[in-house]
Amino acid sequence: MATNGYSNGGSTKGKPIKCKAAVAWGPGEPLVMQEVEVAPPARMEVRVKVLFTSICHTDLSFWRGENERQRRFPRIFGHEAAGVVESVGEGVEDLAPGDHVVPIFNGECGTCAYCHSSATNLCGTYRVDAFKSTMVSDNGTRFSVVNTSGDTVPVYHFLNTSTFAEYTVLDAACAVKINPAAPLEKMCLLSCGISTGWRRSKNKRGISDHRRGHQP
Ligand SMILES: [Zn+2]
Ligand SMILES: [Zn+2]
Repeated sequence: MATNGYSNGGSTKGKPIKCKAAVAWGPGEPLVMQEVEVAPPARMEVRVKVLFTSICHTDLSFWRGENERQRRFPRIFGHEAAGVVESVGEGVEDLAPGDHVVPIFNGECGTCAYCHSSATNLCGTYRVDAFKSTMVSDNGTRFSVVNTSGDTVPVYHFLNTSTFAEYTVLDAACAVKINPAAPLEKMCLLSCGISTGWRRSKNKRGISDHRRGHQP
């Protein structure tokens, strides 16, 4: 998904943003392109303008919802993307509006025992969990939508990322700053496709790798 423009002049900071998103309403149902409201980022969160996103099999398996635990609707899928930080929440110091970022579903808080270990990169707080559907800080969602009955309802998150939207809110630990000279349409693939493929080929060669748990 590409949208026009890389910056918005900071006029939306602290305010909800209405934008388009592809909302999944039920297992196997066609995604609906519709307006959603994206809340400002809470403490240690960032709101990102998504400029490129692609689809991966983990999106599809949760969209199909064959397993009861996968069914959390309405939901915004998408975990492979690239974009630009629109605004940052309180306490975020290493990211700023305008930074080019790639969202990651396996975030790193940088302070827990797992983040300090050289044997794993699975953070205790932000490790990949496709069943998780809310934000870490308050267990809430940052998306809402008006349903067919006219009620405003929360829209669940997916894989810490939810990139099938023009704007998304991420835990700051789940956004990686990249060189602004790097082409975002290619960096998008770093989110999952390239990193997963690289890791799998590495494992195939029998090289020890303790970074288990990466499925998406
Ligand atoms: Zn951690
Ligand atoms: Zn993936």
